[in-house]
Amino acid sequence: MILPIVGYGDPVLRKVCEEITKDYTNLEETIATMYETMYNACGVGLAAPQVGLPIRLFIVDTDPFSDSDDISKEEAETLKGFKKTFINAKMLKEEGELWSFNEGCLSIPDVREDVYRNPNITIEYYDENFNKKTEEYNGLIARVIQHEYDHIEGILFTDKISVFKKQLIKKKLQNIMEGKAHPDYRMKLVTKKR
Ligand SMILES: [Zn+2]
Repeated sequence: MILPIVGYGDPVLRKVCEEITKDYTNLEETIATMYETMYNACGVGLAAPQVGLPIRLFIVDTDPFSDSDDISKEEAETLKGFKKTFINAKMLKEEGELWSFNEGCLSIPDVREDVYRNPNITIEYYDENFNKKTEEYNGLIARVIQHEYDHIEGILFTDKISVFKKQLIKKKLQNIMEGKAHPDYRMKLVTKKR
């Protein structure tokens, strides 16, 4: 089942999400539905609030990035087939010299901006079978995880750009809120009245 993706302006995207237990209703189906929804929209990550659920759950599949021209062969190999489910994640460390990368978000169609993040992270989480893990990631994988982790903290990538850049994309964000965004996947927009 493919769910509509919640668009910019919806309050669910601003919630600090709640932890869940392994008894969470329909957890397996929820995760499967999220993967289906993400693949349908050609995304590399999707967080539960983006399908309207304020819970600490996100998924990542960086496979589409493995075809990028500007990455090393080694990085392409790590990105290929990197598919993971993160439950109740806790960011333990974010380190290294900030680097910028042009990010986008399925909840904010047609907006892309350079965002600065640390390259190395240590994250604790539970996998889909509720096995606790602590892992280190770097580069693009870390970046996708950081972007999705921000979602479960109620943070969007547009919060991390300069005031000047924010001014430039204001109209586009307004359009999304007014229901004028038409990506090639289904969205749930707030459609604010003028
Ligand atoms: Zn996003």
